[in-house]
Amino acid sequence: MSSSNPQVHAFDLVIFGGTGDLAARKLLPAMFHRFLDGQLPDSSRIIGIARESTDDEGYRAQMRKALSEGHAPDPQQLEAFLQLVHYRPLDARKDAGWDDFAAMVGERPDNVRVFYLSTSPDLFIDICTRLGHYGLNRGEARVVLEKPIGRDLESANQINDAVGQVFSESQTYRIDHYLGKETVQNLLALRFGNALFEPLWNAAHIDHVQITVAETLGVGNRAAYYSRAGALRDMVQNHMLQLVCMVAMEPPSSLSPDAVRDEKLKVLRSLKPIDESNAAQLTVRGQYRAGAADGQSVPGYLDELEGGKSHTETFVALKTEIANWRWAGVPFYLRTGKRLPERVSEIVVAFKAVPHSIFDPSAGALAHNRLVLRLQPDEGVKLWLTIKHPGPGGLRLRHVPLDMSFAEAFGVSQPDAYERLLLDVVRGNPTLFMRRDEVEAAWRWADPILEAWSASGEAPKPYTAGTWGPSASVALIERDGRTWNEDGE
Ligand code: NAP
Repeated sequence: MSSSNPQVHAFDLVIFGGTGDLAARKLLPAMFHRFLDGQLPDSSRIIGIARESTDDEGYRAQMRKALSEGHAPDPQQLEAFLQLVHYRPLDARKDAGWDDFAAMVGERPDNVRVFYLSTSPDLFIDICTRLGHYGLNRGEARVVLEKPIGRDLESANQINDAVGQVFSESQTYRIDHYLGKETVQNLLALRFGNALFEPLWNAAHIDHVQITVAETLGVGNRAAYYSRAGALRDMVQNHMLQLVCMVAMEPPSSLSPDAVRDEKLKVLRSLKPIDESNAAQLTVRGQYRAGAADGQSVPGYLDELEGGKSHTETFVALKTEIANWRWAGVPFYLRTGKRLPERVSEIVVAFKAVPHSIFDPSAGALAHNRLVLRLQPDEGVKLWLTIKHPGPGGLRLRHVPLDMSFAEAFGVSQPDAYERLLLDVVRGNPTLFMRRDEVEAAWRWADPILEAWSASGEAPKPYTAGTWGPSASVALIERDGRTWNEDGE
C-alpha cells in the first residue's frame, strides 16, 4: 500500500474501555483511516480491554459494525484491518487474567506499547497500578489519559501521583483532542508562519477574543457522569482553556514539546482569578429546560436526571483576562453549553475599529476585522475584511470573508484529531498533549469559580432548549458594547 505519510514504528495499542463509545466512535475509526493510508506496520496490534466476556472474533464483529456506521468501507481492507484487532476480557479492579494479558503483550517486545485509558477516570489508578505490578511498563511504553483528569486540583493530583508511580512524566500523554484539530494547528501556522499577524496580535490591535463551543445534544445517557461534572469541568477547564492558550501564548522558541507547553503554562498562570468577589459579575451559569432541538421537542435537563434536582450547569459563559503585557485589558469571552441552537466550535479574534473613518455614512457601516477559526462542524479559517462593493454606483463598503481554508483547494480530506494524536503517541511526540503542570494550573483557576458558585447556593439560570443560553449571557458581553458572533459569520 503506498502512502504519502511514512509508517510509524510497530506498536501495540491497548485500549482500556475497548468496548466503550469513544473506542467505537473515534479510536478504532482513527486507526482504520491511518491503516488505509498505509501508516500502520503489519506487526502492530490493537488490543481492546473491557470486562465483557467476548473474544477476538466477538470484538471484531462489534468493531466491524462500528467501522461500517454511516458508510460501507471496502470489505477486503476492513477485514485486513480487523486482523490487527484483538480483545482480552479484564477487570481493571481484579487480578484475574492480567498474567495472560502481560504474556500476550510480551510476545512483541520490540513494539511500542501504548496504554490508552478510555475508561472512567475512577479506574485510572487501578489500571496504572496493575500495569506496574504486572511489569507492563517495559521498552518504549506510554500511557494516554482521557479527560477529565479529576474533578478539582486535589483529585487531579491523586490521579497524577498514582500514574507517576508507574510512568514518568515523559511517558504520560494527557489527551485533549481539540489540540489535534486541523484548525488549531492552522492557528500555529497562521500566527508563527506569517509576518502579517504577529505584529497585530496584542492589546493595541485586538479588541477582544471570543470562544464558543455549542452543542445541540442534551446530556442523554451521560447524565450520571454529567451531573457530577457540569460545563465548567467538562469543557472550560480543559478544551476551552487550551484554545485560550493557543491564541494567547507567546511565540515558543521552537515546536519542541516543552517550548510550546512552557508558553501555554504561562498563559494559564496569567489568567485573572475569578472567585467569590467577582464570580457574579464575570460568570453566568445556565441549565436547559424543555424546548426544541433539531426541529423536535426535547426534555429539560432535570427531566433527564433521575432524582430530578440538580444545580449542575449545562451552560456557562464567562469573561476572563490575561494579566500580562500583551493582553492587558483584552477580554476573552468563553461560552459553552448543551441544547444550544447549533453545533459549532469557533474562536473569533475581533480586531479594533479603524481609528478614523474617511467614508461618508451613506457608504455603509465600517465593521471590525475578524479572524474566525472554526473547529466544527466544517473546519476552516475566515478573515473578514472591508472592501468596496464592485461596480459603478459610488463607493459602497462591504464586509466579506477571505476564506483561508485550503483543504479543499489542495484536495485533502481533513483527518480526525484522534488520527493525528494517536500516531503522535506512537512516535513519542507529546507537543499536543497536556503536561501535568498545565492541568494543575487550569484547575487552580477553575476551582475558585466552582467554590464561588457553590458558596452562593444559587441555582443555574434556566434557558429553553434550542436557545443561546440564559439572557444573562447576552448581557455579559453586551454591557461591554460587544456581541456574540452568530449566524456563522
Ligand atoms: P463508556 O462508553 O461508558 O465506556 C466505558 C468502557 O470502560 C467500556 O468499555 C466498559 O466496558 C469499560 N469498563 C468499565 N468498567 C471497567 C472495569 N472495571 N475494568 C475494565 N473496563 C471497564 O465511556 P466512553 O464514552 O467511551 O468514555 C471513556 C472515557 O473517555 C471517559 O473518561 C470519558 O470522559 C472520556 N471521553 C469520552 C468522549 C466520548 O465522546 N465518548 C469524549 C471525550 C472524552 P465493560 O463495562 O464491559 O467493562
